[in-house]
Amino acid sequence: MSFKALNLSDAVLRGIQAAGYTDPTPIQLRAIPVVLGGGDLIASAQTGTGKTAAFALPILNRLGTHGRTRVLVLEPTRELAAQVETAFRDFARFTDIRPVAIFGGVGYGNQRAELKRGVDIIVATPGRLMDYLKEGTINLRDISILVLDEVDRMLDMGFLPVVKDIVARCPRERQTLFFSATVPPEIAAIASFALRNPARVEIGVARSVTASVNHALYPVAAEQKFDLLLALLAKINFDSVLVFSRTKHGADKIARRLKTANHSVAVLHANRSQNQRIEALAGFKSGKYEVMVATDIAARGIDVAGVSHVINYDVPEKPEDYVHRIGRTGRAQAVGDAFTLVSPENADDIRDIQRFIGQKIPELKLEGFEYKAFAPRPPQTGAPNTRGSLPGQIRHKGSFNRYRNRR
Ligand code: AMP
Repeated sequence: MSFKALNLSDAVLRGIQAAGYTDPTPIQLRAIPVVLGGGDLIASAQTGTGKTAAFALPILNRLGTHGRTRVLVLEPTRELAAQVETAFRDFARFTDIRPVAIFGGVGYGNQRAELKRGVDIIVATPGRLMDYLKEGTINLRDISILVLDEVDRMLDMGFLPVVKDIVARCPRERQTLFFSATVPPEIAAIASFALRNPARVEIGVARSVTASVNHALYPVAAEQKFDLLLALLAKINFDSVLVFSRTKHGADKIARRLKTANHSVAVLHANRSQNQRIEALAGFKSGKYEVMVATDIAARGIDVAGVSHVINYDVPEKPEDYVHRIGRTGRAQAVGDAFTLVSPENADDIRDIQRFIGQKIPELKLEGFEYKAFAPRPPQTGAPNTRGSLPGQIRHKGSFNRYRNRR
């Protein structure tokens, strides 16, 4: 089925064409008719499924032309707000509809100027939006469509009370679209507060790992993790690598050491200024930096096309973050590799992740790397991982549990 068959206006269809999309993704196929029909929607879908366009396209269609501020989209992070606003802007290029991004960490001047000019769509993070609501620069009385995006991450970041406050300030007569990869009870509560008779769409359930991603565990002693990271970087043929650290401090440290080893590195975490984050992301996208070291919150949902590899320097704390992290590669059908460095103390986390995604993650050993404390079984040649994209990689037969028991 084509976008044309979805009853979108010519202006929106031209925007889609200019964005280079030819066929709708499954979530677009299912969500667009619901949104066009004016109904509420609750969708579980990961980033990478095309969910931004799934709401942006029919919203633009419903708005038609420039008018009052009728759409509010809430995003958990500045990066997502900027990215979603850019998507709206791209798709709206053949209309006179004006979106604006409202987020903290930057001055108020430009945002105020844009608001004064008159905008149709506000894409905002909750904190900065609240500032404008309190001072009366923004009012929500004409909002007819409210989008709550990445609600599970809003929960993680402690935003739910302010989100609830913002929802309560919107007119009761409105359409509400709700996106969350997972729906734990706190989120179900806010969904029932915000939504009326929602249609439900579940795509690619957040538990699953994109089929186009080849992922593996690399068991290693904690003290050798950095050396293994360097060895992996030297072995793999990568275009752009995202390295995940659990902590901001850890991210800075990894980045410093990678720089010393002559890699061009960007760092993305919440303690960096907005300008530093923009520069990091832009530099990573343009290829100025070949490696970006990031924490989970900072990296959530960011859209960097062509990430060739994801390396989990630290095992993620929450199983769903594993899915989010490795969802950074293999986006929109590109293939990508995702590796996780695991030390014996991570055994429980790995077990939880495997249970969460419902599959065992193959264990590999990097051939030629001098493992000190860790002595995997002798390499089994002839069984490279499915794509065989990693020279010298050997599938390490034997489960992580067995490895743990041996240690
Ligand atoms: P999202 O899940 O919204 O973050 O989108 C993930 C990526 O898929 C983005 O780079 C989009 O530009 C891209 N994308 C979304 N919809 C389509 C489509 N119908 N055809 C091709 N690419 C798409």
